[in-house]
Amino acid sequence: MSEQEHLYDCIIIGGGPAGLSAAQYLSRLALKTVVLDKSKTAGALAFTNKIENYPGITKPLTGAELLDIFRAQAVTFGAEYVESQVIGALLDNPIKEVFTMEGVYKGRSVIIATGAMGRKPSFKGEKEFLGRGVSYCAVCDAAFYKDKTVCIVGESDEAVKETFVLRRFTDKVSLIAQTDNRKLRDNPQLIAQDIKVLINKRIEEIRGSEIVESIVLVDKLSNEQEILPMDGVFMYLHGNTPIVDFLNFAVDISDDRCVITNRMMETNLEGVFAAGDVTCVEVRQVLVAASNGCVAALSAEKYLHHRKRRKYVWG
Ligand SMILES: Cc1cc2nc3c(=O)[nH]c(=O)nc-3n(C[C@H](O)[C@H](O)[C@H](O)COP(=O)(O)OP(=O)(O)OC[C@H]3O[C@@H](n4cnc5c(N)ncnc54)[C@H](O)[C@@H]3O)c2cc1C
Repeated sequence: MSEQEHLYDCIIIGGGPAGLSAAQYLSRLALKTVVLDKSKTAGALAFTNKIENYPGITKPLTGAELLDIFRAQAVTFGAEYVESQVIGALLDNPIKEVFTMEGVYKGRSVIIATGAMGRKPSFKGEKEFLGRGVSYCAVCDAAFYKDKTVCIVGESDEAVKETFVLRRFTDKVSLIAQTDNRKLRDNPQLIAQDIKVLINKRIEEIRGSEIVESIVLVDKLSNEQEILPMDGVFMYLHGNTPIVDFLNFAVDISDDRCVITNRMMETNLEGVFAAGDVTCVEVRQVLVAASNGCVAALSAEKYLHHRKRRKYVWG
């Protein structure tokens, strides 16, 4: 395949309602579009049990069901959907490069739509040992922990999936749930792979000197404390902070850590747009994310075709 054939018109980072709406608009305009999505189950909509306030749906759906519709529609119009976590990006040249563990994607424009399910380090020792035993990406870092003792903190589908990634490198893997998650404890796949599931535990502290050496856990029922020797701690907890770490300040980020855009969803960099909860939007709703995605896509189309105006009358 030639260099040109590998080049996307637009790379969309994030497959929630913002990213998938943008993908639907761009692919329907015959622009070569790829959506890079960390996980189908990791975004805010994927987490939502019941949605009934999105226009056009006549009965309540789960967030995952609504997301399936968004995804199917974008793919039907020709967008590529790839489940892959973006770990970095070079955005200030006309050809943008987006990095994943599987390879580099090149595109003439980028839309950032990674949502706001991130969190700031909150456990004692978490920030201090980041990159020295604390990680947020098993796919990226698992290979450094061959035969080491590691744990995953979290109980989402994504946390479980990443636990299996770590298990390929070491048999000393435990999964720590902060709630009384017996379903997780009894998960047959985890049992089959000999992964220890500790439920109802609170992380009190991550300890070490140069690198992580142990964690202090507190049992939430008995309040008993235990110290577990540990080499790696992989955090898979969710919060409500925009996910911008992979950008490494490649675009302007506000003090609240959201991506700054104008009302046409343009960032400070030419050809780079953002949409949805990752931006400094004041209302976090599916409808707003989807409409941001539409505006970002039309702005990208204008940029790609060097138009003076956005094309929004499609007669
Ligand atoms: C519990 C809950 C209930 C809610 N209920 C409602 C409701 O009833 N009605 C309503 O309108 N809104 C509701 N919301 C809000 C709504 O879900 C969000 O506003 C909306 O999903 C935001 O869309 P988004 O595309 O910006 O982000 P998200 O839906 O969060 O999607 C972001 C996507 O980016 C991906 N991603 C993240 N990091 C990376 C990376 N590094 N590389 C690649 N991909 C990445 C994620 O996997 C995810 O698929 C609710 C939110 C929550 C948390």
